[in-house]
Amino acid sequence: MARLEDRHASGAPGDWFVDTRCIDCDAARQVAPGLIARNPGDGVSVFTRQPETPAEIEMAWRAVMVCPTRSVGHVTHRKPPAPVFPEDLGDGVFRLGHNARSSFGAHSYLVQRRTGNVMVDAPRWTREVAGPLAERGGLAHILLSHRDDVADAERYADHFGARVWIHSDDRDAAPYATDLIEGTEPSTVGDDVTAFPVPGHTRGTVLYLVDGHLLFSGDSLSWNPNREQLHAFRRACWFSWPEQTASLSRFADHECGFDRLFCGHGWNHDAPAAAMAAHLVDLIARMPEMS
Ligand code: SF4
Repeated sequence: MARLEDRHASGAPGDWFVDTRCIDCDAARQVAPGLIARNPGDGVSVFTRQPETPAEIEMAWRAVMVCPTRSVGHVTHRKPPAPVFPEDLGDGVFRLGHNARSSFGAHSYLVQRRTGNVMVDAPRWTREVAGPLAERGGLAHILLSHRDDVADAERYADHFGARVWIHSDDRDAAPYATDLIEGTEPSTVGDDVTAFPVPGHTRGTVLYLVDGHLLFSGDSLSWNPNREQLHAFRRACWFSWPEQTASLSRFADHECGFDRLFCGHGWNHDAPAAAMAAHLVDLIARMPEMS
């Protein structure tokens, strides 16, 4: 629960607030755009204005439920009047919310599929996630993009009897994994799911392409809405930036035709496949100069 006594002084006056325990993971800003932003003074999140409409109040509740440090709150109400997660993003994709501090607030997703539901990366364990997952048919597979974002994947795997996939180079982060992805070539992971290893952010980082057009990028790719271009995190590259540049270039060569990007950190994006491919080529060309 957010701490009123630690309310950030720069937030907009009113019932909704962010406390000073915020770790600047960015997650709340993505679920409550226009309401929550980075405070220029210290780089953490604050409400820039109070929510007014029902849609804005729902966004504010999503910020409460997504925050890994429980820093977003309301002065009197602790819980939303109705569940705000899983958040339907279309095409069977849901943002799960309840982001884990252990993954620095990374987003995780459910893809509801006739052939078995898929979770990409994992939130913190809570029945507020497990219950809706059970209502939607449970989990057949958990796809881990890399070592940082496993959170409570083991608990969800045990609960639902799901297979867990991770690249062998990051396997020590998920020793309970049932299936390992090897090497740098694409491989099939269940029905119409392809794993593209992209070493760089970590040695065992993987992109997952689901249903031929939904790309889950973990921490390898995101969208920069200000510059309207794809972005990669140079300052959060833990293994090798040249490797990340080369592996994303190999991925681009496959011309897989993704038109929806879902990332762990940063902004998701939809665009026609040709435009997305052009954005990817543009990013790869810029990567050697990025600092
Ligand atoms: S989700 Fe929480 S910790 Fe992350 S930026 Fe928002 S307020 Fe800060």
